[in-house]
Amino acid sequence: MANDNKKLVEEITSMEEDFAQWYTDVVKKAELCDYSSVKGCMIIKPAGYAIWEQIQQQLDAAFKKTGVENVYMPMFIPEGLLQKEKDHVEGFAPEVAWVTHGGLEPLQERLCVRPTSETLFCDFYKNEVQSYRDLPKVYNQWCSVVRWEKTTRPFLRSREFLWQEGHTVHATAEDAEQRTIQMLNVYADFVRDVLAIPVVKGQKTEKEKFAGAESTYTIEALMHDGKALQSGTSHNFGDGFARAFGIQFTDKDNTLKYCYQTSWGLSTRIIGAVIMVHGDDSGLKLPPKVAPTQILVIPIQQKKEGVLDKAYELRDRLAAKGFRVKVDDTDKSPGWKFSECEMRGVPFRIEIGPKDIEGGKCVFVRRDTREKMDVSLDEIETKAAELLETIQSDMYEAAKKHLETHIYNAVSWEEFCNTINNKPGFVKAMWCGDRACEDKIKEELAATSRCMPFEQEQLSDTCVCCGRPAKKMVYWGRAY
Ligand SMILES: [Zn+2]
Repeated sequence: MANDNKKLVEEITSMEEDFAQWYTDVVKKAELCDYSSVKGCMIIKPAGYAIWEQIQQQLDAAFKKTGVENVYMPMFIPEGLLQKEKDHVEGFAPEVAWVTHGGLEPLQERLCVRPTSETLFCDFYKNEVQSYRDLPKVYNQWCSVVRWEKTTRPFLRSREFLWQEGHTVHATAEDAEQRTIQMLNVYADFVRDVLAIPVVKGQKTEKEKFAGAESTYTIEALMHDGKALQSGTSHNFGDGFARAFGIQFTDKDNTLKYCYQTSWGLSTRIIGAVIMVHGDDSGLKLPPKVAPTQILVIPIQQKKEGVLDKAYELRDRLAAKGFRVKVDDTDKSPGWKFSECEMRGVPFRIEIGPKDIEGGKCVFVRRDTREKMDVSLDEIETKAAELLETIQSDMYEAAKKHLETHIYNAVSWEEFCNTINNKPGFVKAMWCGDRACEDKIKEELAATSRCMPFEQEQLSDTCVCCGRPAKKMVYWGRAY
């Protein structure tokens, strides 16, 4: 039996040895998803989908507090519609999948499978919005989108993925900007408070902004290996799409005006962030607030009389308090159950056997620190609540410390190259605002501008790349 435990863990590659392989192993062994017969598409299994459901429910509730309403748009976009906004079509054309036939008949106009739904929302809003009384519209949809990516990885990049896309329409540029920032903050707060991931908030450069947007804001997280992951974006479209699609309204002063729009999205990619920020060599580590199972009760010597009953009793008491709790009553060995529970990232387990019952106690074992503590059976509800809160905040603090200790400054080109090449993490450096420098950095160092943070600093007066006067401080890094 002891051998079995060992085997389960041994099959994960260590993070230090090969981070990419570690990631693939965790995704597979924690049974989050599987490959499908359609290349580049993934099957999200129950353990993975349950995480998405938690994200979806909690984020949806946060949206609704700000007045968001959910709708559903078709998954097909007529070619003519996609082409109405020039930058947008250019941005997405290389990765669009097309439907050319309906049954056996060729279609008169090709339909693309939505890579994102700005065009559909615009087409809808141009009829829906007539007067200032119709504004604002703050709609969102939960759906899947298709982007024909060449290289794919589970959760991080797949040809079809799940997400939400919010699309709003406003009477003024100020209202649109305010909503863009508001939703960025909803994402940042959610990712911090629920997923225990700290982020850097800022604006994308012209080169990195969304196709067709006036400005794009982003939250950037740092993975355990020091690579960045764009974790949610919010775009201000100004009136660009409204002009392309003819979305106009009669204002209070009786004049016809173009609307201002925003869009914002967060996808199943964020599950990849949870894995790569918190996981370790024993597998997944889920923050309590997003863990589908927060507590697993593992009976020891469960064939002995009264042990299983006690385990179920603990489960029922904890469930009655609103915790997400299960009992592992399978006939696997306790050691195997422990490893499996760690692999799946359950925040803590409760071990209970005949001796514990005799002593009126059980043992809580934390996933994040492996710390064990005896807990009196009278107190499990309050102790469980306390421990989940502690784990949630300790996991955030650990991730925050990792982020803070992996942010570097560079003021010269040499220092910049050395840091990018040798110290995985974010590198803060000044930039002149010229795309040529971004291109050079990408070409020579495989690093990109992650964002121009809202909290700007003046590290030096000159661009780290070309030496001309600097306009902005930028977070640079290699990214997923
Ligand atoms: Zn420059």
